[in-house]
Amino acid sequence: MLYLLKSNLLTRAIGGYLVTLIACGCQSPPKDASSAAAATQVSATYIDEVKTLAVHATVRETFDWITTLHDETTQNHILLTEIPAPPFKEADRANQFKAMLELAGADSVWMDSIGNVLALRKGSERKKTTVIEAHMDTVFPEGTDVTVKHRGDTLYAPGIGDDTRGLAILLTLLKSMNGAGLRTQGDVLFVGTVGEEGEGDLRGVKYLFEKGPKIDSYLAVDGSDIGQITNQGIGSHRYRITFQGPGGHSYGAYGIVNPHVAMAKAMAQWDEAARKLIDKGGAKTTFSVSVAGGGTSVNSIPYESWVIVDMRSESQEKLAEIDRLLHDAVAGSVAEVNKTKKKGNDLAVTIELIGDRPTGTAAPESPLVQRAMATAKYLGKEPSLSAASTNANTPLSLGVPAVTIGRGGKGGGGHSLNEWWLDENGDEAIQYALLLLLAEAGISAN
Ligand SMILES: [Zn+2]
Repeated sequence: MLYLLKSNLLTRAIGGYLVTLIACGCQSPPKDASSAAAATQVSATYIDEVKTLAVHATVRETFDWITTLHDETTQNHILLTEIPAPPFKEADRANQFKAMLELAGADSVWMDSIGNVLALRKGSERKKTTVIEAHMDTVFPEGTDVTVKHRGDTLYAPGIGDDTRGLAILLTLLKSMNGAGLRTQGDVLFVGTVGEEGEGDLRGVKYLFEKGPKIDSYLAVDGSDIGQITNQGIGSHRYRITFQGPGGHSYGAYGIVNPHVAMAKAMAQWDEAARKLIDKGGAKTTFSVSVAGGGTSVNSIPYESWVIVDMRSESQEKLAEIDRLLHDAVAGSVAEVNKTKKKGNDLAVTIELIGDRPTGTAAPESPLVQRAMATAKYLGKEPSLSAASTNANTPLSLGVPAVTIGRGGKGGGGHSLNEWWLDENGDEAIQYALLLLLAEAGISAN
């Protein structure tokens, strides 16, 4: 989970609710009393619902199982962390996770064709399917040392929090429900997804909604603190734009089109137009000219210039607008440069979409968000709502209720080699996930 840097943490009131824009699940939002109060408008119905669930005898027994399995949860967590899962290379970890789900026990466990691992636990009535999911991929490339180091009680390893702790939570949840014989009314699908991070572009969750079973409700375990609930998906578009010309000697071929100039003009024009749009206000929207390259030597007119850009918005309309400004700027600058050429071919340009994350929101008063907040309150946490870019973006964009919830414990350094996680009441996040899952799936009377 990702996006927006720590320094960009900001908190704003939207529609009377507090929305904290966060980057990575590993970071906590700023805390202040007014923000907490604004976020905790929870209906008594849901407070009562969670109280009833939490005292149910079989639920108490499931809590005991979570406690009993504490050391196993830690072992699973470490074992999975030490299996590298670079972007697009999640297979080894996926196979292990699949074997562990089979061992925990489910009605069926399988891997879909994109590499997601699914375990179906059938309900008594089967009228609804609730997904609880964590992502298997990490941001770390092949060859990264993923050995877990213990310093005091703290575990250090790339990916230890984001999102391997989520996978360990899923395993213990499934095994505890089985141990206690806790039956739900609706089906529960435990899912480990591929491609959540970076250029993975949510390909696992997108596939799940395109080709998988019908899903009615979606819980992504990919945040930090228990009370921090992501109910809003920040959308993004990313492009690689390549400008190509004939290329030639800087002196001898003078007069041919220069792709670098077209690229620079395009980015400058986009920057100006996009800033104007953003300065008008409205839904938070950002853009970045992120990576650029091309050219061969100082005495050559380049044959190629490429640039990778990123844009994000809370609003699908704003995202479309800033996207259109980019396309206009590219077309305009290419035409300008072609007009100035003295000889040779025109510039060619390709605009390749390399990232597309949809936006979406689950309303604060919707049952799932109310339940997520009520459950946090039940566990003594102040809930707050946030916007982020996670797997939940996809269901949210399709109108399927979805939230991203916390992995619990304490953690930091997400997406860095110094990532750490500390088991401070780590089991509480599993209890939290259980209660929210049961509120959605219902407990069977049988
Ligand atoms: Zn994540």
